[in-house]
Parts: sequence; C-alpha cells; structure tokens
Amino acid sequence: MKEQIKELRQEALAALTSAVDLVQLNERKVLYLGKKGKLTALLRGMGNIPAEERPKVGRVVNELRDELESLWTDRENELLRKEQEARLQKEKIDISLPGRQPALGAFHPLSLTIQEIKRIFIGMGYQVVEGPEIETDYYNFEALNIPKDHPARDMQDTFYITDNILLRSQTSPVQIRTMEKQKPPVRIIAPGKVYRSDSDVTHSPMFHQIEGLLIDKNITFADLKGTIQLFAQRIFGKNTKTRFRASYFPFTEPSAEVDVSCIMCQGTGCRVCSDTGWLEILGSGMVDPRVLEMVGYDPEEYSGFAFGMGVERIAMLRYGINDIRLFFDNDVRFLQQFKR
Ligand SMILES: [Zn+2]
Repeated sequence: MKEQIKELRQEALAALTSAVDLVQLNERKVLYLGKKGKLTALLRGMGNIPAEERPKVGRVVNELRDELESLWTDRENELLRKEQEARLQKEKIDISLPGRQPALGAFHPLSLTIQEIKRIFIGMGYQVVEGPEIETDYYNFEALNIPKDHPARDMQDTFYITDNILLRSQTSPVQIRTMEKQKPPVRIIAPGKVYRSDSDVTHSPMFHQIEGLLIDKNITFADLKGTIQLFAQRIFGKNTKTRFRASYFPFTEPSAEVDVSCIMCQGTGCRVCSDTGWLEILGSGMVDPRVLEMVGYDPEEYSGFAFGMGVERIAMLRYGINDIRLFFDNDVRFLQQFKR
C-alpha cells in the first residue's frame, strides 16, 4: 500500500509539472484529486488492508491530498502569471515609434469656386436652390421661350433620354420651377451640373453652372449691371472692370454677354485674353416678359434679370488652369494643390 501511495505521488507530481497550460492542469487535477480520481480510488481500496493499519494509511493519503492540492494551487498561479505576461508582451505598444499621419482630404477646386460664388450671392440676400438633373423638354426649353422648332435649340447639343426627357443642358429650368412655386420677390442662385454633347480642352460633357434670378417691382438693367459689377469685384478683385456686350438668349430681352478686365494682365493684353484685355465670364439679360407670363407673373407689374455662368470657366481663371479635363481626371497631385 505504501508503495502504491508513493507511486501515485510521483505520477501526480510529474503530471503537475508537465502541464503546459491552465486547461491541461485542470484536467489533470480532476484526474488525480476529483471525486472519481485516482486518490479517491486508492482510499476505496483500503478495505483490503488490516484494520489496525487503516488510520495510519488514511492519514498518509490525506496528507498527500493536502500536499497535492497546495502544489496544484501554486502551479495554477504560476501558469496564470505566465499567461498574463505573455499577453502583455504581445499587446505591448511601442510608444517610441513615429505616428502615422492620417491622410487629409481637400475640397475640389470646383467645390471651392462654387462655395465662394454662393458666399458672395448669399451676402447680397440670395437664396440657394437646386433642381433635378434629369429634366423634361418643357422646363429645359419650352418654358424658357424655346419652342420645338426654335433655332436656339441648335446652340446646345442636348443629351435626350426620350423625346420629352433629357439631361438638363442649363440650370435655367430651376428659374421656372422656383417661379411656379412662389410669388415675387424672387432672389435665387441655382448651382448644379449640366450636360452637353461636347468635349475638348475647354468643354466637358458634364460641367457646372450657376444661374441667378431676381424678380421684383421696378427692377432695371442698371440693377443687373450693379449686381454683376459687385460680383466680379468680389470674385476677381476690387480693381476688376466689367463690360456688357449686346447678345441674344431666348429667355432674356435685352441680353448681354459680360466680360471682365483680364485678371492676368489687368487689361493690357496677354495670351490668356488673346491680347484683347477682356475675358468673357457670363451671359445675362432682363427676363423676357413671355417667360414671366408662362409662370403666371404679370409682366406689367414685375420685371427682373437673370444670369448664368460656367463654374469651370471661373475656376480656370481664378487658378490659372488651362485644361478643363484636369478637373475630372482626379489626379491627386493636381487636387492636393488646392489644400488650404
Ligand atoms: Zn490678359
């Protein structure tokens, strides 16, 4: 019996020391010290030994149980500490390493230009409104005094989806949609994307326009001139001059193209302005009375002006960009130059 106990002790100690982790250690604890473990089995076998020796053997077995339980607890604590150390080592952060710079984005030059134009007109009391990019023929043409057989339709190469539905070729339909919904006074700008079948160094099939419209009592061409003059000075600098040239648009009468004094040469003549000293920036005019009638305004009572400009054109002049396609290539080297 003594031999058996000694053997069991050796076996249990070997099992204890060779356990590699807490799971294995616990499994082995059950194997030796559990209710159905080897030590319990040994006690059950005591029936075979002489009665006078039983208390002695019993004490030895209980001592062994106490010893093993205490050793198991020590080993458990040791393994627990090792596992914690290993985890701390693995999760260690080297605070001496240089940090990673998060990549900061920047506004697109067209967005910057739109923001600036909006800011100027909001400062003059205008509201910003938007409209759909897929339009009906009515809003894009008919309501703007351009009937089906009107030669002005040839001025723009429009993308048609069906006979009656198209990608808007101008932001002017937003004028009509706004006037249909509200009574004068109207004072809006409408920025957005427009589409024309045209593509070269200065034309893109998708580009941005900002349309402006003001309707009220006693509005004259002088109000239009003053507004555009102020806008030109705010966007290109306070020494900027403007020049109005008679032109034609179906929805304004009279109509005018507006030039600003060349921002590169201040009017003395250079390559950018083709030695004229002037740069064309927008189209404008007094809203045609027929357009007012179409939306139910009384042209005897109300008058107003409208203007429209290409955002790409303004951005190219502001930043000295000579190819419109640069705006849409999404080349990061180009776009990063506009970080502020
Ligand atoms: Zn010039």
